[in-house]
Amino acid sequence: MRCPSCGYAESKVVDSRPSEDGASIRRRRECLDCGRRFTTYERLGDNPLVIVKSDGSSEAYNREKLFRGVLIACAKRPISSEQVTSLIDDIEAELRNDMKNEIKSKDLGNMVLARLRKLDDVAYVRFASVYKDFQNIEEFATALEGLD
Ligand SMILES: [Zn+2]
Repeated sequence: MRCPSCGYAESKVVDSRPSEDGASIRRRRECLDCGRRFTTYERLGDNPLVIVKSDGSSEAYNREKLFRGVLIACAKRPISSEQVTSLIDDIEAELRNDMKNEIKSKDLGNMVLARLRKLDDVAYVRFASVYKDFQNIEEFATALEGLD
């Protein structure tokens, strides 16, 4: 959602509520550059999932990024990439069933943890210790490169 005043691509959601007919979500956003507030209407169902980070900024859900993060936590553990794929399929199915259009990064992180715990203790602890609130996949990757 680009800012209508300055065109900046990132905004944070300051308020979010269903429209009267329930078919869309009305969001108040604040531009992270110029601070202008604007309203968007987003139809349910045809929007990608949005991840809301702990600082209030948001980004589109990226399956590839999540996959990479989980795969890194599972490095050198007896977990196949098929298992990681089905873990992510499972999370996406749950989100679809809940009809969620956005999720807090921390909640998504917890969904991963709940599933990793059943698969492998080491991968669970790695993901939990470095990726607590699903903030920054690059930092996470760098921190794990230090592990061996
Ligand atoms: Zn702006």
